[in-house]
Amino acid sequence: MPTSHRDGPSRDRLLNYRNMQAGRNFVAASLALLAGLAGLTTAAAGADPAPTPTPRALPYDVVLVTLDTLRRDRLPIYGYPLDTAPNLSALARSSVVFDNALAASVRTTPSHASMLTGVTPFDHGVLLNKGRLNDGVPTLAEILKSRGCRTAGFVSSVTLSRRTGLERGFEVYDDDVGATQERPAPETLARAREWLSAIPAAEPVFLFVHFFEPHYPYSPPADCARRFLPAGEAPAPSPSFPELHAMRARGFTRPEIEVLKARYDGEVCAVDRAVGEVLRLLRERGSLERTLLLVVADHGETLDDRVWMFDHGAQLYDEQARVPLLVRFPNAAHGGDRVAAAVTHVDLLPTVLDVLGFKPQLAPGGVSLTAALRGDLVLGRRALVTLGSSEARQVPHLRPAPLEGGLAAAVRLGALKLVVYPTADGEVSELFDLDHDPREQVAVNGSRPADVHRLRRRLDAWLGGRPELLRTAAAPYLEPRDEDALRSLGYLE
Ligand SMILES: [Zn+2]
Repeated sequence: MPTSHRDGPSRDRLLNYRNMQAGRNFVAASLALLAGLAGLTTAAAGADPAPTPTPRALPYDVVLVTLDTLRRDRLPIYGYPLDTAPNLSALARSSVVFDNALAASVRTTPSHASMLTGVTPFDHGVLLNKGRLNDGVPTLAEILKSRGCRTAGFVSSVTLSRRTGLERGFEVYDDDVGATQERPAPETLARAREWLSAIPAAEPVFLFVHFFEPHYPYSPPADCARRFLPAGEAPAPSPSFPELHAMRARGFTRPEIEVLKARYDGEVCAVDRAVGEVLRLLRERGSLERTLLLVVADHGETLDDRVWMFDHGAQLYDEQARVPLLVRFPNAAHGGDRVAAAVTHVDLLPTVLDVLGFKPQLAPGGVSLTAALRGDLVLGRRALVTLGSSEARQVPHLRPAPLEGGLAAAVRLGALKLVVYPTADGEVSELFDLDHDPREQVAVNGSRPADVHRLRRRLDAWLGGRPELLRTAAAPYLEPRDEDALRSLGYLE
């Protein structure tokens, strides 16, 4: 975990980053990465003594913008034919766009907890939206605050309220989302703007802003709605949750499906506008070029892809598990690059610390995304895991039926993906070959038993040899993994 930024490796990392900005190659990247791994300790080792804050204690500002329920393939930068997100398209030109970013969880609270701690849900302890961060797991805000950074978080949903523990380390944590339990982006933005405008430019900041817009109910502003609704369809209020449940119970009609999908696109338009406002805010402040800006979704959304539509949380198919991720490095380094390597929410915290020049931070499961820019081989060997709820009703085609109240886990290795659900007396799984079946329509367990076994073993290693952890959503804190487990995951040679 972070210790200090005074010793050798941190200088190396900073130099590497500066080289990256100059567009050079990185011959020593793997060595630096493994040097970091050799010093790996657990995330729960505790925060360091706080040095006295000094102006510009950190070289860059850090801004994390999370877009709740934003599905990757509804964005033009990922191939969507409709112009739902002009601001994200513009941002992509000065950012690195990750094509295979995976959520730590398809639930809001655990995935945000992984972004803000750099460890997996079993390590930070938030397995579902009702969870709370384990004491002793350092947060990014705590780490940066201890180094003289001003910190503030502005969230738009009750799922990220301070009861989650995610407020730890933020001087200001604005979770005043109101009685509806969600706050429109413009209101959250106004609070963030007010805070940021009061911070002198000489002081480094870590600003976390969460927008809730694409999440159901799909109620976009009228102008966004009109752009995508079928001709003649008025931008009326969204069906309520009870109405949606009733529609689902009787079966959606095709026109209903098309209207809901158009409404979703309208919400994408709305949250894209909010991203544009964040960029405007940073430009007005004059800090955009000295900012590390990360824009990412916590998970996606199933629209009409499956039997269980317009929801997320318990289906681990890619429309939920794979998320948009744009990283705008300071001075737009590597702007316009695309990265194909699979990366995860857990990698965000190590990336921030790396770019800021701290000692290599390689908490279990996470590596700096700058390794991806260097084409580091370590990334290709990783088996990445996404968690979700195990709920039989959402995957009615599975036999035996998944256990209610457990956790589903998807493990991805290269183009293979195995989704595992606990059942009453065992488990049921689906193996997909994403090269041949990117929409995950046909499970190939029967013809690929060796691959099923191989990925199952990787998941076991990830679970620290405790597969029973999937059987209860109230699973306890997972003990730090030992070196053998890390090796089996491909982190160590
Ligand atoms: Zn969410």
